[in-house]
Amino acid sequence: MQQKISRKKLCLLLSLSAIVATTVNFFIFHQRINPFIFLFFLLSNIFVFFYLLKFFSEKNSLVESQLENIKEQINITNSENLKAREFGAALKFRITRYDNLKKVIEELNRSLRLEVVVNVLSSTVYSLISNSCGSALFYLLDNHTQKLNLIHSIKEDRQMVILSKEGDIFDYWVLRHSRELLIEDLKNDFRFDLDVLRSQEMRPILSLISSPLISHHSLLGLLRLESDKRGSFNQDDLRFLSLVSGLGAVALENSLLFQKTQDLAIHDDLTGLYTKQYFIGRLKDEAKRCLRLDQRLVLMMIDIDFFKQYNDKFGHTAGDIVLKKVSSLLKESLSLLNPLLCRFGGEEFLVMLPEMDKQRALEVAEELRQKIEREKVLLRRQNTSVTVSIGLACLPLDTKDDDELIQKADKSMYDAKRKGRNRVCYI
Ligand code: GH3
Ligand code: MG
Ligand code: MG
Repeated sequence: MQQKISRKKLCLLLSLSAIVATTVNFFIFHQRINPFIFLFFLLSNIFVFFYLLKFFSEKNSLVESQLENIKEQINITNSENLKAREFGAALKFRITRYDNLKKVIEELNRSLRLEVVVNVLSSTVYSLISNSCGSALFYLLDNHTQKLNLIHSIKEDRQMVILSKEGDIFDYWVLRHSRELLIEDLKNDFRFDLDVLRSQEMRPILSLISSPLISHHSLLGLLRLESDKRGSFNQDDLRFLSLVSGLGAVALENSLLFQKTQDLAIHDDLTGLYTKQYFIGRLKDEAKRCLRLDQRLVLMMIDIDFFKQYNDKFGHTAGDIVLKKVSSLLKESLSLLNPLLCRFGGEEFLVMLPEMDKQRALEVAEELRQKIEREKVLLRRQNTSVTVSIGLACLPLDTKDDDELIQKADKSMYDAKRKGRNRVCYI
């Protein structure tokens, strides 16, 4: 730079001296310009001109390169700014997600009901991860069959039908590996045979995340989000899903245990039918509802004949087998009639049949009696069988009171006993 300034000074000096020389020449030689001086003037000015041209073009390119540098710096700063803004937005998004976790825990703690737990978990991940797009599916694992059951789903397209109610290849992958699954673009994911999927399911899936619900090392089910667009989910989404699933699995286990306890409380251990206490409560409600809606219901009291003798002859365990057998026959034979079945006492059963008239009830009871009579129970290579006496009572025909309805069905049953057992009676 120093050098360039001194060169510039030199040029100016040269140019100045040329001007001075020309002027002096003008005065000395009475306005006649000496051709040598003129040539010197011309050459020196041409030299100055080109030098200045070079100088300014150099300077210009220097300025231009500095400008480029500045532009580059601005671009870098802008992209860093953008990145920082994106990072800030992502951070805010994450903070919102994790803030919501607190609410989820509070909601999960508020209820032990399975429907509530399932609903809270599904809607949380659907809104916070999927942004309420695509679908969220909740599967529970049946411990006996080791099969999945779709128990809840949230769908953006409400018309869409999920055919694979027992899960598809992705769900069984999660089940088999007991770990999370992320598919960013199904068409480029070579872990799965898409032909198998196509044969199972017609709904469009291009990306999905799925997490197992594991509590105390046991797999309870899985929570899955899917989309018909590729790249809808990333590792961050999977981490969050896994976190919610971890929290959810504990809540789910508690609610399953609670449900089991509740089920045990209202079901008889041996037969699996409802207990007397639960049945009476339901009968009260149903009787009220029938009277209000002007509907009918039938009550059937069923008692095994000479059951004491059967026990004495074949043993108590054989008696238990018979009780189970009769219970399953009741369930099977009446399944289409929407019955409420109860083990009322030792070898007595109560059946409530809604929307049935007296004539039809007599036919149903007779069919049932014959079926039980025909049923063989194999004991110590010996075919055994039992018979039952059945008593009927109808609401509101016989009474409008639920307690009295039980008494009347009981009375009818004792009438059947008195008349020789193995029959249906209605008084
Ligand atoms: P009836 O024809 O008059 O009804 O005669 P029954 O012998 O069936 O009637 P009873 O009331 O005299 O006897 C009922 C028997 O049911 C007595 C009891 O040993 C048996 N029992 C009650 N609960 C159970 C049970 O859980 N398991 C078994 N194996 N037997 C039971
Ligand atoms: Mg009996
Ligand atoms: Mg009895």
